[in-house]
Amino acid sequence: MLPPSFDYAAPKTLPEALGLLEKGGEGAKVIAGGQSLIPLLKLRLASPTLLVDINRIGGLDYIRESGGFLRIGALTRMAEVGSSELLQKKYPILHDASIVIADPLVRNLGTVGGNISHGDPANDLPAVMLALGAEFVATGPSGERRVRAEEFFQDTFAVALERNEILTEIRVPIPAPRSGGSYLKFEQKVADFASAAVAVQLTLDSKGECESVGVGLTAVGPTAIKARQAEESMKGRKPTDREAVKGFARLAAEAADPVSDIRGTAAYKRELVRMLVTRALKTAYGRARQGGAR
Ligand SMILES: Cc1cc2nc3c(=O)[nH]c(=O)nc-3n(C[C@H](O)[C@H](O)[C@H](O)COP(=O)(O)OP(=O)(O)OC[C@H]3O[C@@H](n4cnc5c(N)ncnc54)[C@H](O)[C@@H]3O)c2cc1C
Repeated sequence: MLPPSFDYAAPKTLPEALGLLEKGGEGAKVIAGGQSLIPLLKLRLASPTLLVDINRIGGLDYIRESGGFLRIGALTRMAEVGSSELLQKKYPILHDASIVIADPLVRNLGTVGGNISHGDPANDLPAVMLALGAEFVATGPSGERRVRAEEFFQDTFAVALERNEILTEIRVPIPAPRSGGSYLKFEQKVADFASAAVAVQLTLDSKGECESVGVGLTAVGPTAIKARQAEESMKGRKPTDREAVKGFARLAAEAADPVSDIRGTAAYKRELVRMLVTRALKTAYGRARQGGAR
C-alpha cells in the first residue's frame, strides 16, 4: 500500500528541526532510520502531515564516554553499536542486543534513538536501557531535559516525549568495576522480533555478592518491563546461590505480563523469561568476574 501524502523537510540543525516540529503541530513527526515509521505509513497506521527528517543534522551520531556516562547520540545506527569495540569490551549487554536486532539492512539504517522512541515493547533496546539504568536527553524548544528509562516507556507506542521534542542522547552510567551484563533473546526464526528476551546487568561487591542488579524484559507486556522485585531479590546474594537464583527467575517471570499470540501462549512466554533470566544472570556473573568494568 502507498503511504498517504505528507510534506517533507530535511533540516540541517537541531533548532531548525525543533522549529518545524513546533510549526507542524499535531501532524508533524520525526523520521530517523525509517525502519519502523515507513512500514507504519505504508500500512496507513500513521498519517503524519509533515515528516521532519533528522538525518542531516550533524553531531547526533557518536559513542563515547565522558562525565561518568557512556553517551550515545540518538542518530547512531544500530550497526555502529554492534561494531563498537568499546561496547563489546565494556558494555557487552549492548553488543549482545544490537547484533540480534532484525537483520543487517535494518541495523544499517535504524537508529538507537528511533528504536527507543518508537515505544514498541518488542524492540530490543528498551529492556537493555532499563537494566542499565539509562537516562535519555529530550531536547525541546526550551532546552534539554533528562528522563530516566524507567519513566520513559509509558504504554505501547507511547513514550515520555512531547510532540515538539527530539530524543538527542542516551546516557548510561559507566559501570563500576566487577560489573557485567547479558541480553538473551528467543526468536522463532533468525531476524525476527523476540518471542521473549531479557536483559540482566549486575555489579558484584568485594565478597562476590550482588551489589546491584538491573533486569529488563522484552515482548512480554504492553511496554518493556523493569522486573523490580527480581532485581531486589538478588541484592546481597551470590549468583551461585541456587535458591536465590530460583527465586530471582520466578520473580522475573511473575513481572512479565505476556499475551498469547503467534509467538506462543502467555504461559510459554513466562516460562521463557524464567529460563532466559537464569542463563543471562549466569553470563552476566561470568563477565563481571572477568574483572574491569565488564
Ligand atoms: C523487518 C524488520 C525487523 C525488525 N526487527 C526488529 C527486532 O528484532 N528488534 C528490534 O528492536 N527492532 C526491530 N525492528 C524495528 C526497528 O529496528 C526499530 O524500531 C527501528 O530501527 C527504529 O529506528 P529508526 O531510526 O528506523 O526509527 P524511525 O522508523 O525513523 O522512527 C520510529 C519512531 O521513532 C520516532 N523517532 C525516531 N527517532 C527519534 C528521535 N531522535 N527523537 C524523537 N522521536 C524519534 C519517529 O517519529 C517514529 O515514531 C524491525 C524492523 C523491521 C523493518
